[in-house]
Amino acid sequence: MVLATSHRNIREKMKIVVTGGAGFIGSAFINHLLDNFECDVLCVDKLTYAGSRMNIKHNVSFLQKDICDVTSDELGEFDYIVHFAAESHVDNSIKNGLPFVRTNVEGTFNLLEISRKNKNLKKFIHISTDEVYGDMDEHFAINHTATETNEIKPSSYYSATKAASDMLVISANRTYGLPYLITRTCNNFGEHQFEEKFLPTITRSIKQGKPIPIYGDGKQVREWMYVYDNVKVICDLMFDGEIINRVMNIGTGFRVTNLDIIKTIGSILNQDVRIEHVEDRLGHDKKYGLNSKQMKFYYLSKDKTIEFKNLYDYLEEHYGNEK
Ligand code: NAD
Repeated sequence: MVLATSHRNIREKMKIVVTGGAGFIGSAFINHLLDNFECDVLCVDKLTYAGSRMNIKHNVSFLQKDICDVTSDELGEFDYIVHFAAESHVDNSIKNGLPFVRTNVEGTFNLLEISRKNKNLKKFIHISTDEVYGDMDEHFAINHTATETNEIKPSSYYSATKAASDMLVISANRTYGLPYLITRTCNNFGEHQFEEKFLPTITRSIKQGKPIPIYGDGKQVREWMYVYDNVKVICDLMFDGEIINRVMNIGTGFRVTNLDIIKTIGSILNQDVRIEHVEDRLGHDKKYGLNSKQMKFYYLSKDKTIEFKNLYDYLEEHYGNEK
């Protein structure tokens, strides 16, 4: 079940800068925000291979620019900045880590420098990932899930640059008093995910009757969340003044192996699945898992229930009629 959307609220004086707003999660955030609130949105996006303005269904101000090069004059005064822009595909970071260092570290640094001088700023919302905690299988006991105070132990240039950007945000708070929220989210699924990612790749291959390339034994465990559930939580936390200067895990507890997902999509599409085991990804993490008790406690404390769309229900809804 999808979370009920709140009634439309007027935030007319609010200006919200959204970086990476043409990407998968950033565009869902803008769509959710403007479906439910009235506010001015400035989307800053370089429009790399991963971004498309078509993902945004509302009219927003748009600055097509690299976050490393944007200036305070271009952003003006703003109330919130929600920072999604990143190089986000682990395999690309193995081939060439430099763009990850530039966008994820240098880009975040530039935004922090602009934001900390901004008098109106209520919160810098930095979108991070469960991958910064590293491999739950390798470093911790069975069934361990990462709490927000868990050691940071990234395994790839992608997760290392995300972890570095988290540290920059926290240090900007300590040194300059920058108000912030870091969200660490599990794997998202949903509309407009770029075709290089796991779910679009395997679904395409199954439909085309091609063998499905799977890293190693395919038993890697990932946690999954519907993208519009994630952005709803981000939006709730953003507007809550009590949620400040902290890290919050955003997860569902729905953890499955990659192999299970492939078999499920095959059975939903009623297609035989031919698995082709390929050499494992370098440094591949076996398991991610988030402890999201803080998030659940947040909703309980507001007397709100929270229920997330299940990955398998979503796949059935989308592909069930293609049998
Ligand atoms: P995405 O790759 O779909 O989109 C990234 C967007 O950022 C694109 O629109 C791209 O054009 C833009 N961008 C990239 N480099 C830029 C730069 N230098 N300057 C300006 N814009 C730039 O990514 P996503 O999957 O939507 O992820 C968004 C954020 O969420 C990332 O920070 C990622 O680390 C984090 N995250 C994603 C997932 C997931 O499952 N997709 C899970 C956890 C965390």
